[in-house]
Amino acid sequence: MRVIVLLGAPGAGKGTQAPLLAARLEIPVVATGDLFRAAVRDGTALGLGARRYMDAGQLVPDEITVKLLLERLARPDAAAGVILDGFPRTAVQAAALDRALAERGARVGAAVLVDVPAEELIRRMSGRWVCRRAGHPYHEVSNPPRVAGVCDIDGSELYQRADDQPATIRARMDQQLGALGQVIEHYRTSGVLRTVDGRQTIDAVAAAIDCALAEAGVAAAG
Ligand code: ADP
Ligand code: AMP
Repeated sequence: MRVIVLLGAPGAGKGTQAPLLAARLEIPVVATGDLFRAAVRDGTALGLGARRYMDAGQLVPDEITVKLLLERLARPDAAAGVILDGFPRTAVQAAALDRALAERGARVGAAVLVDVPAEELIRRMSGRWVCRRAGHPYHEVSNPPRVAGVCDIDGSELYQRADDQPATIRARMDQQLGALGQVIEHYRTSGVLRTVDGRQTIDAVAAAIDCALAEAGVAAAG
């Protein structure tokens, strides 16, 4: 089971890179933010519980988030491996993931940090548009869709996330960056952390991620 963690601050480009990497490695993306947004949209109990944290730019409590992730990992399409986007976001989540993988005789093969400075994160989130069907991200300046308001990949409508408003963007940076630091330390300690410069073009970041995975001994499929 190949498990790759994409790490980075909100807006760093994880959701842009994850599907590109998934196509190269032939394993699915598991993005907890997308799972939470789907639960909110469907009005499930989990969605109702998560929504107030998301609207406030805070992390959803570990207990809820770990349960959501473990249920997703138990699905058959995750058996060969997954690319995790947005999980783990706390040291507790990182430890829970290690335990769950150890039970399957697996471990995180690489944790790739997409590193982007704070002012660029704000620019990226402020101009972000995502598609309704799968959350594919675009940027009105640096990564526009071919047709305004329409996803290049699945043709669904684009919208701006409720938490991409200036006040919530700031709250997310304030609330979430400290915990990200702990997760980075977790993977530095276990020796699987790789850092790529996320300020480059999307294609250059993708190439840097490939190099980082090769260094970590995680080969692409085929
Ligand atoms: P995350 O999933 O880490 O929150 P996203 O992948 O949604 O971040 O990217 C945030 C915004 O930045 C989106 O609008 C996206 O189109 C844009 N973006 C992503 N990668 C780059 C890049 N390398 N250069 C410029 N803009 C980017
Ligand atoms: P994202 O789409 O990754 O930016 O996540 C959107 C929001 O979902 C975050 O601001 C959090 O409120 C919540 N969320 C997503 N992943 C996690 C996680 N691993 N732990 C806690 N909250 C999360």
